Amino acid sequence: MLILHCPYCGVMAEETELHAGGEAHLKRFGPGSSDEEFEGYLFHRENPKGVHFERWRHVNGCGKWFHAARCTNTLEVFGTYSAQVTAPPQEIQDKISAKRPGWTWGTWGDDPKGRDQ
Ligand SMILES: [Zn+2]
Repeated sequence: MLILHCPYCGVMAEETELHAGGEAHLKRFGPGSSDEEFEGYLFHRENPKGVHFERWRHVNGCGKWFHAARCTNTLEVFGTYSAQVTAPPQEIQDKISAKRPGWTWGTWGDDPKGRDQ
């Protein structure tokens, strides 16, 4: 079972206490954007076998949204952090890089993401 630390209330919450909210760090596009940008924002999501950044809500706890960095292959959790940031904290990026040599957080086009190399 997936267990995540809620960065707001400090609880180690089991998956059943949480609600998944999809991919984290999406760049939002709205009125005035191109059709391709809006389509990408609405429909295109990463589905990696490896490092992934996700939104979670502590629905049966404090009710707040947070982000989690984890490996979809091994279910290893690298850390959780506030949903009010545009990139993972440096300490979490360093932890992932130490465990997944070659992994980097960067910008690919207009889409900032972490990638396995
Ligand atoms: Zn909480």
